[in-house]
Amino acid sequence: RPLVVAIDGPSGSGKSSVSREVARRLHLAYLDTGAMYRALTWFCVSGGIDLTDAAAVEQAARDLVLDLSTTPQAEYVRVDGTDVTDAIREPAISSAVSAVATTLGARTELIRRQRELIEKHHRRMVVEGRDITTVVAPGAEVRMLLTASEEARLRRRGIQLGGTQNAEQLAAQVTQRDARDSTVVNFTQAADGVVTLDSSDLDFTETVDAALVIVTK
Ligand code: C5P
Repeated sequence: RPLVVAIDGPSGSGKSSVSREVARRLHLAYLDTGAMYRALTWFCVSGGIDLTDAAAVEQAARDLVLDLSTTPQAEYVRVDGTDVTDAIREPAISSAVSAVATTLGARTELIRRQRELIEKHHRRMVVEGRDITTVVAPGAEVRMLLTASEEARLRRRGIQLGGTQNAEQLAAQVTQRDARDSTVVNFTQAADGVVTLDSSDLDFTETVDAALVIVTK
């Protein structure tokens, strides 16, 4: 029987590691939609595409040859056969990704592919991102918003507020990205029927356990 677990949340909420572990424990497939936006951004940047040119970015989304792991046990992302698993986590991609993610035509294409992947896995999948509970899979059996205080989110990224100038800069970048992202999708507030899980005061294991309780309820 179908079991789509949709998990949204801001960066640094622990979303990816928690979602992956939930998928592993429930023997479900796993989809990191953020990795798709990152892979598209890598493709655009490496191809010298102007990120302010919406038509070009949309075309790139259609041209993108993407091979993304859908099992929680293995993490890999390939674009045109090139392994970009690590490259898409580089700061240059993180700071460019919002420009791509706010291009509506590109979103439409990635959302189409995400829905296709959910069907391909017979609707047994944990899907995480920013707009999964609201746009990609609003009919999911389980819909969750994973939140954490700004302090907790920065702490998890190894950023200490009041620390070095570099740390302050990193903090500002993360906050800026969330602010830019939330102009297209609202992932700061739970939509109707979406359960909020606040992980600010929970460690990884406690968050996974709490998520599993929500799924099996
Ligand atoms: O989750 P992660 O931080 O890897 O996502 C990278 C970026 O991809 C986000 O900052 C956002 O711009 C975009 N994204 C999105 N919709 C999703 C998932 C990610 O716009 N469902």
